[in-house]
Amino acid sequence: MFVGHFALGFAAKKATPRTSLATLFVAAQLADILWPILIALGVEQVLIAPGNTVATPLDFVGYPWSHSLLMLVIWGVVFGGIYFARTRDKRAAMVIFALVVSHWVLDWITHRPDMPLYPGGPKLGLGLWNSFHLAMAVELAMYAVGVAIYARATRAKDRQGRWVFWILVLLLLAAYLGSSFAGPPPSVKAIWITAMIGTLVTLVLAWWADRHRDSVGIAKQKPGQ
Ligand SMILES: [Zn+2]
Repeated sequence: MFVGHFALGFAAKKATPRTSLATLFVAAQLADILWPILIALGVEQVLIAPGNTVATPLDFVGYPWSHSLLMLVIWGVVFGGIYFARTRDKRAAMVIFALVVSHWVLDWITHRPDMPLYPGGPKLGLGLWNSFHLAMAVELAMYAVGVAIYARATRAKDRQGRWVFWILVLLLLAAYLGSSFAGPPPSVKAIWITAMIGTLVTLVLAWWADRHRDSVGIAKQKPGQ
């Protein structure tokens, strides 16, 4: 899944009004942030195999450290634990944990059976990606709902809060549609370089937009401000 992960990150803002959208994106996308690094290092493997499923030309040969359920539970505990140690915000730490693990659940729904339960363990996948239109309809619907929840849970403090937010929303959408309709990537190296640059741009925009927006939930708690 692609924008479906960001949909959960956007939506989580309502539950954790003090947590930056960039942090929520890192949690929802942690598997896909680790993945290009591990591909670049040769620890995990991917092949370009057009027709693997109708929605992706990629054959995810092995990604036990970034994409197995067990490792995502561990990454979730680590990330949630660090966040709790720094902020003492138990609720936000739980949301971060859930977001990290949610990546497995969403990819399990979309991928063919290539999602490991644990490194070396059985691989599962419901294969939503075997139906191009259904997969796209599900992801776009999730994305629309997630963006709407974030837009209602926050309010722009200034022009940047409005414009950077919409640039982020449209850029992610364009990246998703581009990757869905473009042909297969030219090389594995192109995959991980694009993924890393995309992550960096997305996180900077998410952090920037979020800094220029107020959480409606917090505003209600402090009526004097
Ligand atoms: Zn993934």
